[in-house]
Amino acid sequence: MNREEKIAQMAEWVKESNNIVAFTGAGISTESGIPDFRSPGGIWEQFDPSDFTYQKFVSNQGSRKILWQFFQNAYNMFTQASPNPAHFALAEMEKMEKLQAIITQNIDSLHLKAGNTLEKIIELHGNMERVVCIDCRSHHENEQILNRLLQGEEVPPCDHCSGILKPDAVFFGEPMPVDEMNRAQQSINSCDLCFSIGSSLVVYPAAGFPIMAKKQGKRLVIINRDPTSADQYADLVIHDSAGDTMKELLQMLNR
Ligand code: NAD
Ligand code: ZN
Repeated sequence: MNREEKIAQMAEWVKESNNIVAFTGAGISTESGIPDFRSPGGIWEQFDPSDFTYQKFVSNQGSRKILWQFFQNAYNMFTQASPNPAHFALAEMEKMEKLQAIITQNIDSLHLKAGNTLEKIIELHGNMERVVCIDCRSHHENEQILNRLLQGEEVPPCDHCSGILKPDAVFFGEPMPVDEMNRAQQSINSCDLCFSIGSSLVVYPAAGFPIMAKKQGKRLVIINRDPTSADQYADLVIHDSAGDTMKELLQMLNR
């Protein structure tokens, strides 16, 4: 099948379906200017992934200092980023009452900014909008923490208990949020078509969801610039830009 035939096939499947789940990774947001982790120029070329483990963060003041430097850069990048055509296409698919859920590994809040409703979005890895105290579990405004960083605090402690503050995103080695994992499982169980968009499908347990859909006999479509570890399971694979592909899919649906 050539590219146009593949997009026509996808459009047919979307028309036949009422329960679509989209699984999204960092690759859906690179066209919004947020680098992914593994591509050249990605985040791991600037920071050492071993500084991002939960264990190191809680046990080591030096790691916390590096993390907060990263957070300052990342926060500015995330607040300035706008959704791209791939995010907007998923918002349209919700309006068409086709899309049942978005299971995302992303922490950039771009699905919400694109217009998908909160109850449809399952953030498996949390988000960067909030800061949480790992000791008393209180939540803190991002802006306030950012101001403290700008004023020279290198590792800001919790206002309430002086405990350790952490961006409310899931770190390597940190347990996955139970509610979100359950919601993701339920949405996979009840879907009839699963899109995996912009994920290398190597970070587990999140990457297990699209494969689970396929094992349950649902259709699986993978849209990713580079080959993924699950291409062999998919009914259809497009190695291309998520923004262009989803835009063309939407045009085909609106024809
Ligand atoms: P990844 O970095 O492992 O893989 C991203 C994939 O997206 C790559 O295979 C790449 O080929 C593909 N890609 C890049 N640009 C693309 C484009 N324009 N169109 C189509 N495909 C494109 O990312 P991952 O699988 O999501 O896992 C990494 C982890 O990093 C996740 O757990 C996530 O929490 C976190 N993360 C999040 C963000 C974000 O919130 N935007 C950014 C970086 C990392
Ligand atoms: Zn506290």
